[in-house]
Amino acid sequence: MSIVVQKYGGSSVADVTRIRQVAERVMRTRRAGHDVVVVVSAMGDTTDELLALAKQVSPNPERRELDMLLTAGERISMALVSMAIRELGGDAISFTGSQSGIITNDRHVDARIIEVRPYRVQDELARGKIVVIAGYQGVSYRREVTTLGRGGSDTTAVAMGAALGAEYCEICSDVDGVYTADPRVVPTARRIGSLSYEETQELAEAGAKVLNAQAVEFAKEKGIAIYARATVSPLPGADPSSDGTVVRRFPPRMPGSVVGVASERDIVMIESSAPGADLLAFLDRRQVAGKQLHASRETLSMVVSRENLHEEPRLRAGLAEQFGARVRLVDDLGALSVVGAGINGSFDNVRRGTAALESAGISSRDIATSSFRITWMVDRAKLDEAVRLLHATFLEQPGPALP
Ligand code: ADP
Ligand code: ASP
Ligand code: MG
Repeated sequence: MSIVVQKYGGSSVADVTRIRQVAERVMRTRRAGHDVVVVVSAMGDTTDELLALAKQVSPNPERRELDMLLTAGERISMALVSMAIRELGGDAISFTGSQSGIITNDRHVDARIIEVRPYRVQDELARGKIVVIAGYQGVSYRREVTTLGRGGSDTTAVAMGAALGAEYCEICSDVDGVYTADPRVVPTARRIGSLSYEETQELAEAGAKVLNAQAVEFAKEKGIAIYARATVSPLPGADPSSDGTVVRRFPPRMPGSVVGVASERDIVMIESSAPGADLLAFLDRRQVAGKQLHASRETLSMVVSRENLHEEPRLRAGLAEQFGARVRLVDDLGALSVVGAGINGSFDNVRRGTAALESAGISSRDIATSSFRITWMVDRAKLDEAVRLLHATFLEQPGPALP
């Protein structure tokens, strides 16, 4: 029998009614003749609530203890979903990340999966069971419990799919696929039928949280097809790109065209005139991951995502103590990106985007490009407006000829 991995996000298991709906969808998949592995997130906003609770007790919570706390969220869902499946006559068993063989490094709070040893999962599938796995968590070689960074249940699902040789991995959410922009911000955004791994990874890294970037990276490496779909959608039919998004190798695409706009609000920009090597070593010691590093002879800047940064007061104090006024944290910017394969073949897209922003009075502090992405750092207060503007510019109207 072919194996299907289905991941259900927090909103899909937010209450008992939705948990029952998930169980019904799992049973339908089972009846269609598949072995089913289900990966679940914590119910609703549980992870945010647990984090808020931790910060009431300690403004700089220790990472190991955070992992012990946060993994409890997914553990609740896995047990409830398993019970709900059993109520419908299915034979389900739940496993934590550790029991399912998700082995990670020991970087608490944003650990990476090193290998998957899915023996217990395989044994239970062979016994005809439906296996329900707690997403977002694993265990290190030292047997420490870890979490995979926010949105990490997607990564659990893809890694498990790869280890089991699954036919595909479904990521089921409150939205029926990857859109040209966050549909909550841009009402005119459209669903994209198929996307390449690279485009999806760039969109995810630029803030489109419908899929987790590390999960897409995993899928690309292992050649696993991802189907992003709504939990309320039917099971994938002959053409899953007709009512969801399929992420795979080489989808048909006009080279150089923008496929989507994404933004990240919760960031801080570090600007430094201190010796670059000292600052980078300081950040590595505290396991602070930066991106968009830009270093010239005298200055260095980078963007730090707040998503997995849970000890900000300590970080700020440490930076002030070691570097004084030579390091500055800029905290009023957001990152605005457009993504598409080959979009920087010429500077057409950079010029078009910058001109559109300027004509609306939105100035950009910094521009960075890669072969798949252009990112403007703009005033955070104008970020959503800027997303709508670039969506209108690149995805709602044909491009005007530029001088
Ligand atoms: P889940 O809990 O199912 O993992 P997430 O909240 O992590 O769900 O991701 C789904 C949300 O991602 C959607 O509700 C949507 O607002 C947001 N989102 C951001 N960018 C996009 C995009 N480009 N396409 C679709 N959804 C997006
Ligand atoms: N519950 C975790 C989070 O909120 C993991 C996930 O939902 O994928 O980030
Ligand atoms: Mg998610």
